[in-house]
Amino acid sequence: MRYSMNNVDYLRVSVTDRCNLRCIYCNPLGDHGRRDREGILDFDEIQRVVRLCAACGVRKVRLTGGEPLMCRNVADLVGRLAAVTGIEDLSLTTNGVFLGPMAAQLRAAGLKRVNISLDAVDRQCYRRMTGFDLLPQVLDGLHKALEVGLTPVRLNCVVMKDRNLAQVIPLVEMALRLPVSVRFIEYCPTSRVTGRAEDYVPNAEIRRIIEVHFGPLQSIVVPDAGGPAVYFTTPNAAGAIGFISGRSSMFCDNCSRLRLSSDGKIKPCLHADQCYDVRGLLRGGASDETIRKLIQEILREKSRYTRITSTAEDFLMQSIGG
Ligand code: SAM
Repeated sequence: MRYSMNNVDYLRVSVTDRCNLRCIYCNPLGDHGRRDREGILDFDEIQRVVRLCAACGVRKVRLTGGEPLMCRNVADLVGRLAAVTGIEDLSLTTNGVFLGPMAAQLRAAGLKRVNISLDAVDRQCYRRMTGFDLLPQVLDGLHKALEVGLTPVRLNCVVMKDRNLAQVIPLVEMALRLPVSVRFIEYCPTSRVTGRAEDYVPNAEIRRIIEVHFGPLQSIVVPDAGGPAVYFTTPNAAGAIGFISGRSSMFCDNCSRLRLSSDGKIKPCLHADQCYDVRGLLRGGASDETIRKLIQEILREKSRYTRITSTAEDFLMQSIGG
C-alpha cells in the first residue's frame, strides 16, 4: 500500500534542540554541537509552517525537542498553534522535569495532552539512564498533568538490555495503578554516540517478560490513539500497556507524520537522509503559495520512503524530536 496525500495529518514540531537531560539512547553528550539561536525557527516561523501544513491536511501537531519545556514562553507558542484553523489536536512530548509547575498554564493555553518520557521508576536507574537525579520532579509532572487534565497521559519508555530492562515490571505496575498508558519503544541506535546496538530488545521479548509476570495481555483499542502503538491491558488495570515496535515491525504504510526540525527542515521520514529546507524559504521572503507547494511536494514524495529506501544511520533525535 502507498500513502495517499490525505493519510498524512500529523506534524511533529521540534521547537528546540536543547535538552536538560543526557539520555544514553538520545543525547549522551548533552547539547554539544547544537545550533546557535539564530538557526532555530522562531514562533512566528513555526506558526506559519503549521498554518500552511494545516492547509495541506495536517490536523494534529505535537511539540517536541530537545526538551520543549526548555523553550522560553512555550505556552505562548501553544496558544498560537491551538488557534490555527484546522488543528484539532495539540500535544507535547516532554521528559517531564519542568512539567509540574507549567502543566496548568499549558492546559489553559490550549494544550490537550502530554507524553512523558520515563525510562525507570527506580531513582538510581533513572539517573543512570538520563544523567540526572530528577525522578521526583518527573513524577510530580506526571501527577500534575493528570490533575489538570492533560490527558490521556502516555509514558514512553525506551528499553535497553543491560540498562533498564528490569524496570519493565515496575513500569507496568504504574499502568495498573494510574490511568496512564505505559508504552515501550524499541531502542533505535541512531548515531555513533548513542548506546550500543546490542542493547536493543525487541518488543516481543518485553511482552513475554510482562506476560510471564502478569499473565496474558488482552488487546484493546484505545480511542483516538492513531500512530504506530498497539495497546493491551490486564484485568483490573487503570491504564494500558503499549508497544511501539519501530525496529521489529515496519509501519511505513501507516505512517501519517511529517517532522519539522528545530532548524527548519521538513523530514518526510525519520530514517530518510533527505529533508527539505523551509527556513531558507521563510527567511528568503517566499510567499505562502510557494511554501504550500513545497509541502504538497513533500507529501507526494513521502510515498517513496520505505524502510528499504530510508537508511539514515547517523542522526540526533534531539534535533528531530523522535
Ligand atoms: N525531551 C523530550 C522527551 O524526553 O520526551 C522530547 C524529545 S525526545 C527526542 C522524543 C522521543 O524520542 C522520546 O519519546 C524518546 O523516547 C524518543 N527517542 C529518542 N532517542 C531514541 C532512540 N535512540 N530510540 C528510540 N526512541 C528514542
